Amino acid sequence: MVVINRPKSVAINAPRMCQPIGAIWATLGIHGSVPLIHGSQGCSTYPRNLMTRHFREPIEVAITSLHEKATIFGGAINLKLALSNIIARQHPELITVITTCLSETTGDDIYGIIKAFKSENNEHTKIVGIHTPSYVGTHVIGYDNAIKALVTQLADPKTAPNGKVNIIPGMVNPGDVLEIKHILTEMGIPGLYLTDISQTLNAPLRLPKPHFPRGGTTIQEIADCPNSLGTIPLCKTEGQGAANYLQEKYGVAAKFGDLPIGVESTETFIANLTALTGKNMPESLIDERDLLVDAIVDSSQITFGTKVAVFGDPDIVQGITRFVYELGMQPIHVMTTLEGGQFAQNMQTLATMYGAEAEKQNIIVGGDLYDLHQKIKETRVDLIIGDSKGKYISKDEGIPLIRVGFPQSDRFGYQRKSMVGFRGSLQLLDTLVNTIMDAKEP
Ligand code: SF4
Repeated sequence: MVVINRPKSVAINAPRMCQPIGAIWATLGIHGSVPLIHGSQGCSTYPRNLMTRHFREPIEVAITSLHEKATIFGGAINLKLALSNIIARQHPELITVITTCLSETTGDDIYGIIKAFKSENNEHTKIVGIHTPSYVGTHVIGYDNAIKALVTQLADPKTAPNGKVNIIPGMVNPGDVLEIKHILTEMGIPGLYLTDISQTLNAPLRLPKPHFPRGGTTIQEIADCPNSLGTIPLCKTEGQGAANYLQEKYGVAAKFGDLPIGVESTETFIANLTALTGKNMPESLIDERDLLVDAIVDSSQITFGTKVAVFGDPDIVQGITRFVYELGMQPIHVMTTLEGGQFAQNMQTLATMYGAEAEKQNIIVGGDLYDLHQKIKETRVDLIIGDSKGKYISKDEGIPLIRVGFPQSDRFGYQRKSMVGFRGSLQLLDTLVNTIMDAKEP
């Protein structure tokens, strides 16, 4: 097993995005919210472009539009003007002020500016400041910072226990959030989603169009999260900040596991729900699990020994890697762009657990698609699993690309798909098996 840490000091075709994207994603899962980027114009245009193509929905992101003057003298005037305009025109329930490389470098005190704005205008609209300096971390850290900021600034433990479980979905599809809701419904557990994009970023078209998309977590629900039985972040890297905060500050138990893809991780997720609520897996979910097991057995002759390369966000890569091990495949190259963290160690643990031939695996941490391409040229694989940026390697090498993760900018309907839970895993398994069968046809 070879662990390659940040192979070079430039990035070539890097499948990483900046922190504000994660914060915008988290904000858009809240009903009646407007994300306000405190930076220059491109910092809102670029996320909107990516998210609109992935979700096929209009993505509204406001911007303080910092130029030379604000860069030198500070962006307080721009930020206050933007807040006034948004409140006057859109009457939101919540505005998140999301910093950027520029406003972090100039050092604008966003909390001080928000406080001054509220007091000068006797304004009561909820405004949450989120620090997302994009020269460190990636979009997954931006999401984690955003959920923690929302919980820290909006949580209100004064009311009674609510009997709910906090679920932090991470940067997964609306289809995935719906699948998690399905599991909780089958178990009779009320969920509190921090936050919920299942409708806001996959909205039915019905006229008259509502001012804000239907659905999403309400501010009142976020305030109620310290009263829940526990918190489960589906993606550790994209929820541990808030989960640990709720545990330390309010004694709300945090339960961690891999992103629930495949049999074992989904069972762990359900076991965590059982530990928090005392409710066991019902017959309906046992049937769903056994359907997945049946499909794994039926397809084992096709999947066994298939060599794969997996890249993307650390939690998605970890969840997929565990699943492909369950299928008897060989994850030869695994890569995430996020530096540091537990990724390499977790991959080594998985390889040991599934008895993989350790010396055959490359673990790339903080790499890019150039690095992955070089490794694939050295050791060829049968499948690549990752987001749409993997299509260049796929085309060059003639290796099929199975699409998971964000962004999928050149596909339609991907946001409705799920890869989590027993049913989502079954959908993913079907895609994997059919793709391998297609590739093997003479
Ligand atoms: S300047 Fe920074 S925050 Fe803005 S788009 Fe670029 S990386 Fe993101």
